[in-house]
Amino acid sequence: MTQEQDRHQQRQQKIKEKVDERVAQATEEKGLLLVITGNGKGKTTSGFGTVARAVGHGLQCGVAQFIKGTWDNGERNLLEKLGVAFHVMSTGFTWNTQDKQADTIAAQAVWQECLKMLQDPNLDVVLLDELTYMVSYNYIELDEVLNALQQRPAQQSVIITGRGAHRSIIELADTVSEVRNVKHAFEAGVKARKGVDW
Ligand code: ATP
Ligand code: MG
Repeated sequence: MTQEQDRHQQRQQKIKEKVDERVAQATEEKGLLLVITGNGKGKTTSGFGTVARAVGHGLQCGVAQFIKGTWDNGERNLLEKLGVAFHVMSTGFTWNTQDKQADTIAAQAVWQECLKMLQDPNLDVVLLDELTYMVSYNYIELDEVLNALQQRPAQQSVIITGRGAHRSIIELADTVSEVRNVKHAFEAGVKARKGVDW
């Protein structure tokens, strides 16, 4: 072994020891609250990536989507076939038509389904896609959201996506990632693409 290889091996060994030490310290087992926020693309796809990961392990998952899709939903087409329950806002809130009363009714209907999911000990992973906007627009009470999250079954994980996550939700969360927009094809005039954007 050359001196260079030897030094490399020693460095790697030190890193491994540190990682092992930290892995040994992480002993708590509980469901996690994840928040994926920020202005860049990748929040909803990250949430669904986690749901797919869980389904792949045979875990039970549920999804609520708070923005009315104007087009076909690829994830729903796939995951419903695999037994994932979807609760999608059917009328009301879209970016185009903001009618506060209709939006509140539509948001509340989906939220009632969320409350059921957040009380269901058989659900391992729950995705609340675009929930952040419902809180920002006061369609759903922040305190109700915080209470439901705090009182959920201890082993249930929840993923919340959407821009501008309220700071109380961020505080409550275990893991928070902010997706930063570096650039997006749409800004260069490229159309949203099936299979990539929805
Ligand atoms: P995705 O669903 O692709 O993971 P997202 O959940 O991070 O995106 P949203 O704000 O929910 O982003 O917007 C959903 C749609 O808007 C997607 O079609 C996405 O490609 C597009 N989009 C996301 N971020 C941007 C951006 N910074 N500029 C323009 N369009 C965006
Ligand atoms: Mg999204």
